[in-house]
Amino acid sequence: INRSFSTISPSLQPASPVDSLKSFRKTPLFINGEFIESQTDNWIPVHNPANNDLVTLVPETTPRELNDAVEIAADAFKSWRKSSILTRQRVLLDLQLLIREHTDIIAKSITEEQGKTFADAKGDVLRGRQVVEHACGITNLLLGEQLTVANDMDTYTIREPLGVTAGICPFNFPAMIPLWMFPLSIAAGNTVIIKPSERGPSAMMTLAQLAKEAGVPDGVLNVVHGSVGTVNFLCDNEHIKAISFVGSDKAGKYIHQRGTSNGKRVQANLGAKNHGVIMPDANKNHTLNQLAGAAFGAAGQRCMALSTAVFVGEAQEWLPELVERAKTLKITGGFEPDADIGPLISRDAKTRVEQLIQSGVEQGAKLELDGRNPSVPEKYKNGNFVGPTILSKVTTNMDCYKKEIFGPVLVCLSVDTLDEAIDLINKNPYGNGTAIFTNSGSNARYFTSNVEVGQIGINVPIPVPLPMFSFTGNRASIQGDVNFYGKSGLQFYTQTKTITSLWRHEDVNHTKSAVTMPT
Ligand code: NAD
Repeated sequence: INRSFSTISPSLQPASPVDSLKSFRKTPLFINGEFIESQTDNWIPVHNPANNDLVTLVPETTPRELNDAVEIAADAFKSWRKSSILTRQRVLLDLQLLIREHTDIIAKSITEEQGKTFADAKGDVLRGRQVVEHACGITNLLLGEQLTVANDMDTYTIREPLGVTAGICPFNFPAMIPLWMFPLSIAAGNTVIIKPSERGPSAMMTLAQLAKEAGVPDGVLNVVHGSVGTVNFLCDNEHIKAISFVGSDKAGKYIHQRGTSNGKRVQANLGAKNHGVIMPDANKNHTLNQLAGAAFGAAGQRCMALSTAVFVGEAQEWLPELVERAKTLKITGGFEPDADIGPLISRDAKTRVEQLIQSGVEQGAKLELDGRNPSVPEKYKNGNFVGPTILSKVTTNMDCYKKEIFGPVLVCLSVDTLDEAIDLINKNPYGNGTAIFTNSGSNARYFTSNVEVGQIGINVPIPVPLPMFSFTGNRASIQGDVNFYGKSGLQFYTQTKTITSLWRHEDVNHTKSAVTMPT
């Protein structure tokens, strides 16, 4: 077994964004504080989406390795749960600093494996690091409740860790989403198994190394890889008490069902179709800038991408200007300094997005801007690029409206009133995010009261809450009812004990048994 991570990973020195990694390598497992090469015969290739060069091979972790990882995590829990809260806080304080210092190298691996622009990849790391920073407040976050209920009787609560928790991650935020999961879980005293996306594992490997350097003890954080086989193992293994999942509807519903039927807690964040309502009284320039950024940024591969525009009344006259603004976005490899939009994750994803654009055309939408076959520099000719695409005259029965496209495609609908816009949003099954662009306080207030979506922006296109709040998508965008990070996140990773104590100062001098309920 090749145990040396340093021989198979990039150096942890912050790297220049244009340095390319030397050659493809095998992504290791991280078990018991060691980087280990899997013994599997089954390796999944990861390609750079900008040129389809091979970047790394990800193992389908063997059952024996999975078992080792979970047994080690279960064993590590015995001591980690007894560690002082100040010890855990210290580790997190060091981890957030190390992440800050190594932002560039984490971001570099994200751009290389996932495709998003280097600037956007740094945002991916930042938004994840903010959860670590929040978890550094664990000494306050874990405070319990106490009430003196009678002269001699006190009731108080303590929040205790669960045991081994697992995290199953999607490809689109290779740093942020693992960071939604393991820091808070570890801070609460759990041990963790993370399964990164098999399409972008390296950011998590660097985070594991940084966690080790920050003092996370061996076995407390472990990383395994693979696809369905690994997921099934995590859903079934008796040591795993809770599963955090972020990804597609299909996988999330399956994992929620399988995990909960095995008695585990499961929180699952799923897909989305986020609508932006454009009122004619909005600030036009701000609105068009925000709309184009939120629809096409990260090539639309964000669960909070604003992929559906609902123009109210005269606001639909702004469409030609939106098209002009979208045309100015630069489509190229994510390391290029002027890149606005990078490639899609895979050739399959590109084909799927192109087919959904075509379906819109065939079902009666108007193609205002066609991003298929965009012009890109010669060295990216083999990449999975689709440029900004705008479809107008879209109706709710079209596939391009009904499906999450997950590409740089904005579908535009028009309505006459705010009520019609709200009705349309509420009829859509998803409830992840929505936004209204308006200068009217009463329109904004009416919208927030009546729209059935969990995260709402007012002149803010992608209203992802900071970690002192929670990520509160609702309806079909979530399975389970305890949200990620913030207060809910901590609730998910802990269970409450409530203790009632009686310390009576006087002697008990009667002999009657207490057979009735105390009143
Ligand atoms: P995905 O479901 O394909 O993969 C997510 C994880 O599930 C991966 O680790 C993968 O190995 C595993 N997986 C995939 N198929 C599986 C199956 N059939 N059985 C068991 N496990 C399986 O998702 P993705 O394509 O990586 O991510 C994109 C999706 O994630 C989009 O739908 C997006 O909206 C969603 N997403 C949601 C949020 C949110 O907070 N709501 C955030 C980010 C992404």
